[in-house]
Amino acid sequence: MEIKVLEKDDMNMRLLIQGVDVPFMNALRRLVISEVPCMAIDEIVIIENSSILQDEIISHRLGLIPLKTDLESYNLPEDCPCKSEFGCNLCRVTFALDTEAKGGPRTIYSGDLVSENPSIIPVSDKIPILKLAKEQRVKLEAYARLGKGKHHAKWQPVSMCTYKYYPKIEINKRCDACGKCIERCPKKVLIKAGNKIETHEMISCTLCQDCVEACPQTPPAIAVSSEENAFIFNLESTCALPPERIMQEAVRILDKQLKELESQIKVKKSEKD
Ligand code: SF4
Ligand code: SF4
Ligand SMILES: [Zn+2]
Repeated sequence: MEIKVLEKDDMNMRLLIQGVDVPFMNALRRLVISEVPCMAIDEIVIIENSSILQDEIISHRLGLIPLKTDLESYNLPEDCPCKSEFGCNLCRVTFALDTEAKGGPRTIYSGDLVSENPSIIPVSDKIPILKLAKEQRVKLEAYARLGKGKHHAKWQPVSMCTYKYYPKIEINKRCDACGKCIERCPKKVLIKAGNKIETHEMISCTLCQDCVEACPQTPPAIAVSSEENAFIFNLESTCALPPERIMQEAVRILDKQLKELESQIKVKKSEKD
């Protein structure tokens, strides 16, 4: 397998992965979405709520706020030695919110949540939660835990994780550079270079085949297909974890699951013997 980083910043990562097949790419995608844990608010005690929003709506909104996650310092509740339903300092982070609109209407933002651990906080302090009218008050305690996307989407560390085939565009000698395919391409992948057609930013190609349909030649002088065993993998983090950490964790989980499968096969085999 060969991996090339095409783009990367604090939130996004785009990789070219070669030498693998569709089931492998799909396993990676599914692990990122449903198995890589992140922190989210999971339990709320409402002490006072005189706003017009019901407790359930506030709770739902709080649950969906992405939180910065520290996988080294916290355990998944099911793996924590405390074995307590309420949790302990190794599997739970407490947040407090106590806001009153004294002077006039005010909006409560994610930044109003006070965390007991300054490294586990909302990824942005500008996420609006609710608006209070004058003299309304919300006071609550919220408990965040690690969890997995397969149990609830609030525990997905990504807002997007996809892969697509790596495009292959071939232009043959019959091309007279009429430019019809350039006009039709929605992604501006094709360009004219002298009296030749060339490709540019090929990874933007969606394999839509519009250029092939636009070609007046019969058969078309342009062919669009995909490279065998080469994929473009896109990941957009919610900022709960850096994109490379999400990938590392997905690969670690895949490795662990394969080892478990191998040991189960061995156990079954020795039972038969
Ligand atoms: S297949 Fe679609 S996106 Fe790709 S080059 Fe042709 S028109 Fe452009
Ligand atoms: S439409 Fe066909 S003939 Fe015209 S430039 Fe494109 S590939 Fe060449
Ligand atoms: Zn615990």
